[in-house]
Amino acid sequence: TAPELLRNFCIIAHIDHGKSTLADRMLQLTGVVEQRAMRAQYLDRMDIERERGITIKSQAVRMPWALTDEDGVSTPYALNMIDTPGHVDFTYEVSRSLAACEGAVLLVDAAQGIEAQTLANLYLAMENELAIIPVLNKIDLPAAQPEKYAEEIAGLVGVDPETVLKVSGKTGEGVTELLDRIVEAVPAPVGDPDGPARAMIFDSVYDTYRGVVTYVRVVDGKLNPRERIAMMSTKATHDLLEIGVSSPEPVPTDGLGVGEVGYLITGVKDVRQSKVGDTVTNAAKPAPEALGGYSDPKPMVFSGLYPIDGSDYPVLRDALDKLKLNDAALVYEPETSVALGFGFRVGYLGLLHLEIVRERLEREFDLDLISTAPNVIYEVTMEDKSVVTVTNPSEFPGGKIGEVREPVVKATILAPSEFIGAIMELCQTKRGDLQGMDYLSADRVELRYFLPLAEIVFDFFDQLKSKTRGYASLDYDVIGEQAADLVKVDILLQGEQVDAFSAIVHKDKAYAYGVMMTGKLKELIPRQQFEVPIQAAVGARVIARETIRAIRKDVLAKCYGGDISRKRKLLEKQKEGKKRMKTIGRVDVPQEAFIAALSSD
Ligand code: GDP
Ligand code: MG
Repeated sequence: TAPELLRNFCIIAHIDHGKSTLADRMLQLTGVVEQRAMRAQYLDRMDIERERGITIKSQAVRMPWALTDEDGVSTPYALNMIDTPGHVDFTYEVSRSLAACEGAVLLVDAAQGIEAQTLANLYLAMENELAIIPVLNKIDLPAAQPEKYAEEIAGLVGVDPETVLKVSGKTGEGVTELLDRIVEAVPAPVGDPDGPARAMIFDSVYDTYRGVVTYVRVVDGKLNPRERIAMMSTKATHDLLEIGVSSPEPVPTDGLGVGEVGYLITGVKDVRQSKVGDTVTNAAKPAPEALGGYSDPKPMVFSGLYPIDGSDYPVLRDALDKLKLNDAALVYEPETSVALGFGFRVGYLGLLHLEIVRERLEREFDLDLISTAPNVIYEVTMEDKSVVTVTNPSEFPGGKIGEVREPVVKATILAPSEFIGAIMELCQTKRGDLQGMDYLSADRVELRYFLPLAEIVFDFFDQLKSKTRGYASLDYDVIGEQAADLVKVDILLQGEQVDAFSAIVHKDKAYAYGVMMTGKLKELIPRQQFEVPIQAAVGARVIARETIRAIRKDVLAKCYGGDISRKRKLLEKQKEGKKRMKTIGRVDVPQEAFIAALSSD
């Protein structure tokens, strides 16, 4: 298709504002999915996506749409809709999807108004200089306030409120007008048709049958079937086995030219060989320069992942290897813990990513897992100037420390203005630094903070939700790092350090962490035949202490005079119980106690 007849767009929306439903309606109206094949959220392929109602992996789909002018002349256009993941953890993927488009539909729930994710993605779209089409969705809802929110969006985007489209993805009302508007308002792609081929990878997905399917947007030149292509970041070359468009099922074509969006299949088996943001070119006639904007996904949050049943370790290792084929951002390495045995230290983009990976491991590979409290990466500079990177609290160095640095995020919080006080108080306790505040309308406010990532990954979002009765929304972006007064708190059982319970916390919070953890363990660890002190310490200094008092637990005492087989049974039962115990020094701790104390949920 000639570039003049192409329109590449995406839909940006806060979660639940109806992006998938609207996409479904567009597939139906343009006739690419027949009525009977239609099922809700056609594009959300993974089970978890469908159940949680979120879109994790972006997908592209091509739809025909004809526009008829006043003289009755009809022009056939091809619309490429690129579905973006809406969540902050996937900001990098969102930004690559946006870079593949010329326009964005800014979709806002007419009963909710703009939320933090809408805003964050809108700013990304503006940075990419996309044409923005503001749209209010769910106008069929009785609670919809289209007039009020049209003002809000119009103010933000800088258009007349009259021009804000009002649609319902559910009933289909206004969707035809929206498709027309996309053709009119989104610019046609421009590129050099005769130059060396350059295409940007905005997604790559592992498929059991076809290997890695790479989604690209061609910027210059043309990619042809059966030619040899090269990845510009790694110089690796591959044969192009198939090239085509998704409509939404794959349809092979005789190539992709300027502005076209489609998929490539090369037979590679690992998404890391086909990296999002990389530039694909022709191996025989390579482009001199890659397209800009490539960066490696960087894990920001780490946590230990252990099988509850130690014999599942090989299954967990295989499962992680398989998941990695489809998730270039997932990193892990083996780790052992005195308390939990063999497992892995896993790096994630953020908390949602962590939850998704864990859920997929449990569901798709039938594993029972414990995941330890998440932490961020710390950079510790010693007094002798050597630098240690810490992704696990137990690696925190003991010697003379010069400075500890931690990642900082820029957070955007949107909420009704009555909650300003509560939000400021929360951010204060989380070591936040207020950067600015703006009213979006008379009763809704945007607060901008710098916050340590470590304070957000724990339970910030839950607390924010509960302090604002669920009305606040949050988006954040890692912007750098800062020096902070951080210490490692160790937990000792009878003088013996338990690695999995060590945590890196701000100096002012060390005491609270120590009291909380020692208290929790006192409740969870059963009494032993001797007294067990539980201590929290920073270095050699004990900051909190609890004691589990001794019991005399001679189970055989009850059996005096009883028959011998009953005694044996009791002894066997006790041995069975011991198996699920971990011994720390002389103390027997049930596995469940560790799980309960460490669990992040
Ligand atoms: P997404 O998270 O943005 O992809 O949102 P979904 O398309 O999954 O929709 C979220 C919820 O809103 C679902 O329960 C939908 O059925 C509902 N929904 C979506 N569009 C509409 C609409 O136009 N009207 C009404 N009443 N409900 C809608
Ligand atoms: Mg969705």
